[in-house]
Amino acid sequence: MSEAKRGILRAREICENRAQRAQELKADGRTVMGYLCIYPPLEMLTALDIVPYRVFGDMQTVITEADRGLPVAFCPFVRSCLDLGIKEEYSFLDGMVTSHACDAMEKAAHVWERLIGHPYFHFIEIPTKVTERAEAVLKGELQVFAQTLQTFVGREMSQESLKKAITVHNEQRALVRELYEQRMSDPPRISGGDTVRVLKAVMSLPVEEGNELLREVITEVQSLQPAVDAGGPRLMIWGSIVDDPSFVDMIEGAGCSVVVDDTCVGSRAYWKDVPITDDPLDGLAHHYLADIRCSRTFFEVAESDKEVAQKERASDLESRFGYIRHMVEGWKVDGAILQSVKYCDTHGFDVPDAIDYFKSLGIPSTYFEHDYTPGALAPLRTRVQGFLEMIC
Ligand code: SF4
Repeated sequence: MSEAKRGILRAREICENRAQRAQELKADGRTVMGYLCIYPPLEMLTALDIVPYRVFGDMQTVITEADRGLPVAFCPFVRSCLDLGIKEEYSFLDGMVTSHACDAMEKAAHVWERLIGHPYFHFIEIPTKVTERAEAVLKGELQVFAQTLQTFVGREMSQESLKKAITVHNEQRALVRELYEQRMSDPPRISGGDTVRVLKAVMSLPVEEGNELLREVITEVQSLQPAVDAGGPRLMIWGSIVDDPSFVDMIEGAGCSVVVDDTCVGSRAYWKDVPITDDPLDGLAHHYLADIRCSRTFFEVAESDKEVAQKERASDLESRFGYIRHMVEGWKVDGAILQSVKYCDTHGFDVPDAIDYFKSLGIPSTYFEHDYTPGALAPLRTRVQGFLEMIC
């Protein structure tokens, strides 16, 4: 492979043609499994030598078929995924794993199962509250998932193979965190838009290949001069899915750097490692329920703080959004963009409290909703420019 096709350039190329490698692997006899959202435990796929392939929507493609299964007033990202599925963009997949990440995902999963005929389909119920009982329920769900996968591929998933897979996926998490550290410099060494491209590429590859790509990118950015010459205010993006890098390019094009994010094609899936436990399903159940800080899960105030929290809202906000403090301080964030696709109640309900939390940290924020189309970008750019003028 030529030098020019290593690192960021290679990631951009994979991102442009995401299905290519998965289709090559399938032609070589590998099983390729699609998944929606960050909740299906990919470690269980890797343990059975199945290639995980994340299903995304496409802001650039007009939705024409999704009405067959989903209402118009519905998460446009999910509608776009289904639309592409019906148009056979994902027909190379051997199967599909979905989960109850949110109600929109659950509805889409069942429609997907009915309208798109993959040889394998599985839906994982994910509890919405973090309790011991909920972890046990999720572990039960994962046991059923493991059984259906083993039956599908005709191989056994040993505890050793699962622990090994967890270790390799944890390596990936550590590499992504290292990549994010390259954005701590001022200006950052890799742009927010390219970070999304790298992560989308990683989510299209088997885990070891994704790790190799991440190592290449990290080595490259460490040797580069800072990649974003504009510098400017350092922003954080929070909210629902951002799976089109042009969305982040648009924000950075307004004269700022997106230095960190709390979104699900960003840091959210990578911030914490899966603990290796005697029964690896215990560690997986804990991680996917309690460690991923998405608005879809309700995080109760710790028992010891309950009395204080009832009196003090600040304490409640800290238990729900405290992880953001580390990002704001570590990446020296000047302002936050809270964004959500239309009809995303999951994030929409959290917005007022997230705004209050950023305010408590002394960080100005702005919030906007968009309809997941390229047409939404121009007015959003004006909003971002207005926000930058306000905080500069
Ligand atoms: S953007 Fe919101 S509604 Fe759509 S899938 Fe994600 S959490 Fe669910």
